[in-house]
Amino acid sequence: MELEDIRRRIAAAEQAAGRTAGSVTLIAVSKVQPAERVEAVLNAGQRIFGENYVQEAQGKWPGWRNRFDGVSVHMIGPLQSNKAKAAVQLFDAIHTLDRISLARKLAAQIAEQGKKPELFIQVNTGEEPQKAGVLADDLPGFLASCRELGLSVQGLMCIPPESEDPVPHFRMLRRLARDNGLAGLSMGMSADFETAIAEGATHVRVGSAIFGARNYS
Ligand SMILES: *Cc1c(COP(=O)(O)O)cnc(C)c1O
Repeated sequence: MELEDIRRRIAAAEQAAGRTAGSVTLIAVSKVQPAERVEAVLNAGQRIFGENYVQEAQGKWPGWRNRFDGVSVHMIGPLQSNKAKAAVQLFDAIHTLDRISLARKLAAQIAEQGKKPELFIQVNTGEEPQKAGVLADDLPGFLASCRELGLSVQGLMCIPPESEDPVPHFRMLRRLARDNGLAGLSMGMSADFETAIAEGATHVRVGSAIFGARNYS
């Protein structure tokens, strides 16, 4: 199946980049995919998944968590502050921390629920007005605010502009992570995950290359 092929390609990209085997975490992005496709990938052994919508994840994952051990679900879509409580209940990692109002709500919920989700700050590397994420210049200040709130941030995440070469964006993210003492780099999707691995990605978010095209209708 496609999952095996993606795993092989990740291993080859790790090796080509001189990186440790297994150093890249594959997040299988299951948003809007039919249940049977997700179950096939669960049955093939994949345990880390990405979702974009709180409500959709709420409907799908509690049942699968009961049936499959060791499932981890990562939030990779924009997160509304009023969904912080549900997000902390549902997700093992959040890749889209991008503003102080959300940071405050997450910090309160993390304290209240006694959970410790992995957190990534989304950076708008292309400075696209319609896209979420902090601007590179604002990252150090935002990170300091997150730390003051007691949040433990593991890394950075980006979605490069669709029509551009992603390499400069991956490099910017890597430099920002290094300069700010962060180890995690969530970057690379179906079209460019091997490139992202060459540029240092620790987490790749691969959807359609594993599950097939998404049907939003
Ligand atoms: C949907 C999505 C992905 C997966 O995209 P594919 O091109 O299907 O691999 C990765 N990251 C984010 C943030 C997404 O929204």
